[in-house]
Order: sequence, then C-alpha cells, then structure tokens
Amino acid sequence: MGNIRVRFAPSPTGPLHIGGVRTALYNYLFAKKNNGTFILRIEDTDQTRYVPGAEEYIKKSLKWLGLEFDEGPESGGEFGPYRQSERKDIYKEYAEKLVSMDFAYYAFDTPEELDKWREDMKSKGVHSPKYDYSTRMSMNNSLALGKEKSAELIAKGTPYVIRIKVPEDEKIVFSDMVRGEVSFNSNELDDKVMLKTDGMPTYHLANIVDDHLMKITHVIRGEEWLPSTAHHVLLYKYLCWEDSMPKFAHLPLILKPVGKGKLSKRDGAKFGFPVFPMSWISDNPEDSFIGFKEFGFLPEATINFLALLGWSPGTEQEIFDLDELVQAFSLEKIVKSGARFNIDKAKWFNQQYILKKSDEDIAELIKPLVDKAGYVVDDKYLVRVCALMKPRIELLPEIMEAGKFFFTDDFDYLEKIVRKKWKEPNIVHIKEIKQKLALLEDFSKSEIESVIKNHIESNELSFGNIFPLLRIAITGTTKGPDLFETMEILKKNKILSRFDVAFDSFDAIIRDKDN
Ligand code: GLU
Repeated sequence: MGNIRVRFAPSPTGPLHIGGVRTALYNYLFAKKNNGTFILRIEDTDQTRYVPGAEEYIKKSLKWLGLEFDEGPESGGEFGPYRQSERKDIYKEYAEKLVSMDFAYYAFDTPEELDKWREDMKSKGVHSPKYDYSTRMSMNNSLALGKEKSAELIAKGTPYVIRIKVPEDEKIVFSDMVRGEVSFNSNELDDKVMLKTDGMPTYHLANIVDDHLMKITHVIRGEEWLPSTAHHVLLYKYLCWEDSMPKFAHLPLILKPVGKGKLSKRDGAKFGFPVFPMSWISDNPEDSFIGFKEFGFLPEATINFLALLGWSPGTEQEIFDLDELVQAFSLEKIVKSGARFNIDKAKWFNQQYILKKSDEDIAELIKPLVDKAGYVVDDKYLVRVCALMKPRIELLPEIMEAGKFFFTDDFDYLEKIVRKKWKEPNIVHIKEIKQKLALLEDFSKSEIESVIKNHIESNELSFGNIFPLLRIAITGTTKGPDLFETMEILKKNKILSRFDVAFDSFDAIIRDKDN
C-alpha cells in the first residue's frame, strides 16, 4: 500500500472514553503495519463543548499506553496546525466555495425562529422536523430569499450560517471496510450546518476539509459516525475531491458487560470498573472517573485487552504485545458485531502481564502506592514482597491489600478461626514454636520451615491446628503467600514481636467470646 496516513481526531469535550482509546489504537496499528503515518488532530471547533484539560488528558493517556504520534500538535508536521481552532480561516473559504457552486446556502433563521418552527411542525404532527429539501424553501435562507436580498442582509451584518444543500431523493453509496456497501437515501439527511454564525466550521466541514488537506487515506472511527459519513461523501463530491476520498472503516460498538446497549461512561461507576484510561477529576464527583491506570492495570494489558475488543487475529493466540499486534493487525479482521466489555477478561490479561514483569519493575510500579499509604520500606524489601505477591494478584493495588502485613502491624485477625483454635494444647505448642524460632541464628526460610515442621511432627500434632494460628499471628489471615518465606522477609525481630502481640490479642478474643 502506498503512503498510508491515518488520524485520530478526538474532540476535547472531556476525558477520552475507552472506546476512543480503541479507535486510536486501531489507527496506530494500521499505520504501523503499513509503514504509514499516525496523526493526532484536535477537533476543537465546538467552543461550547470545550473542556479545559481534556486535550492534555488525551495526550497523556495515549502516551501512557505507548501510542506515539508521528504528526500532531506536539510533534508538528508539514500539514499543521493540528488543532482545528488554529485553522479557522481555512474552512470558511470552502464553505463559501460550496455556496458559490450552489451546493450550500446562507441561512438567516435565528435560533428562536428555528425553535418556533420546530414547535409548529410538531403541533402539525411532524415528530422530528428536518431542515431539508422539503422544508428549506419555506425558511429564511438565500435559496428562498434570492441572491439580492441575501447579499443585502449579509451586507447589513445579519448573522448567518452556511448549510449544505442535500439533493432530493438520491442514493448515496459508499463502501466501508468493515460493513461493506452502505447506502443512504438523501431524503433521510438534513441540510446540516457547515459554518456557524461565529465563523467556526461544524465538525462535518472541518473534518472533511482536514482529512483532504492532511492527505488522510483511511478514516477509522466509531460506528456512531456512520450516518455522518453520508454527508461527508456528499461534501467530497461537491468539492470535487472524490478521487482522493479516504477509505472508511467504522468500528463496532463496545457493549455493556450484560451484552446489550452501548457501554457508557456511567457504566463504570455502575459496575465498579474503569471505562477511561486514566483517572479524570472534575469538580462534580459524578463526572469524576477512575482510570485503568489507577485501577491497577498495566498499559500493555490495557492495549492487549482493547485490541481484542472488536478485532480478532483469526487464531487462538490471545497475548500480543504492541509489536505483535502491529504485525497481526488488519482491518479485514475487525468484527462487525458489537464487542462485549468483559472486565474479568481485562483482569486476566493484566495478570499475564504482571507475571511477565520483573520483580523490580513491579516494585517500581507499587512504590507510589506504598508512599501514598505512608509506609516506609526499603527498595530491596519491596522487591522481595513483590516477587512473593506477584502470582497472587490481578491488579497492582491488590498487593497493598493482600500483602498489608508486609507494610504495617496494624491489621485485623481472622477472629473466627482464632475462636475455634486458640485453645490448649495448641496454645502451648505455638508458644514453644515461638521459643524455638527465637533461638534460630539463621532466620532463613528453610530453617524456619524445619523448626516448625519438626515440632509438629515430633509432637504428632495436626498441621490444621497449628498452621492457621501461626499464619494469623503473622499476617492476620489464613490465606497468603508461602508462610516460611513471609517470615524470612519480615525478619526475626518482627516475627517475635508479632507473636507477642498476637498471643495477647488472641487471649482477648477468647475472653470476649466467653463473656
Ligand atoms: N471529532 C470526532 C470525535 O470526537 C471525530 C470523528 C472522526 O474520526 O471523524 O470522535
């Protein structure tokens, strides 16, 4: 394939939904696979929906995921500027050109007039009134008023928009790389605004002008843009750019975990998982969201998970790093049906990538959480903790929960088991084991193990009576990593003092039970 150029074109209207990240990812994979160019274009022409910080958020999130742009507001490039608000003057010229070719017209209807018109139409039984071929001649525009009158109004400074003139009863057909041939009857389309009263273009005009000027070869975007494509195809035709019209690929929806309906930003809170790549904090708590990153996902796992949400390699392989994805990716293998969002699958991917990482890398990722919790541990210690906990977690912060006893003495005891087992002769044996451990010079995993096992065996005790109590005394619970190694990591002094505290606490638990 020739010079492939694709763009990711988010509007900075808030944080980037995971569906948007998937769109960016597929554009990236397609570009890299074909030695093409991956472009970031910020579509910020709708000033009313502009949210400060959103552009930064988008860039930061994609960087975290390792999706670097070849051209964009940061990296520059010969087709800039890459922020539409900085290209404002370009669009007006094309809107005027469309008017001069009679493919568009000036419309002077004020918002109030339009509201009133809609109300009137509704009262006449038209449920969704459209500004189109059937109604335009009864409206306040240059087609109905004539050239002279319109020129007069414009000269007087009357505010106007420019609307595309959609033809009556024409079939608009285009080929989509995912869904095949798509066709619309032009009567379904309205005369969309191309240029607004403030001189800013709407999404439709800016989008196709930029795709043309930036020599975009493939438009890969979410399915929700499919209906707009009919207008876009018309614009390409009107501007005589049909020959260089990009190929379209509309990606399937990401569906709720329950399978039906589009995954929405509110579903995150509802189902208790992230739907944004990174956390987004807003003044309104309802508009604040936790991200995949902060939830404890690795970028590699997030990418792998998203890649398979709507694309299938056609083999059994599931684990793909970014380079492998680039090699395997093709638009032909994008699935047509919606892709169900399955957080358990995402966690499974995360676990696989956690296991692949070195203990040192995991420790580095955990360090900020340790610091935030106010725990002080040295690096080597943290690496050992991570090595031991790594196989037991799916999300990074789980180390802090499941391994809490590595960081603090302040943890609860599993009282149910204490109540059942803290009685003679177990008590005297646990205390004897503690004495024997206190005598150990080499407080290593193997020495600890042989002391404990020898004691149990030579006294013909049952493991089930002794072991849970030992574990609870050291860690608070009966589940956890290898106890001997845990003891070695925590070191002798800590273990002995934990026993002392536990013995008193266990006695207190029994006293409470008896009372
Ligand atoms: N600005 C649009 C968006 O926010 C871009 C759609 C497209 O890729 O054409 O998704």
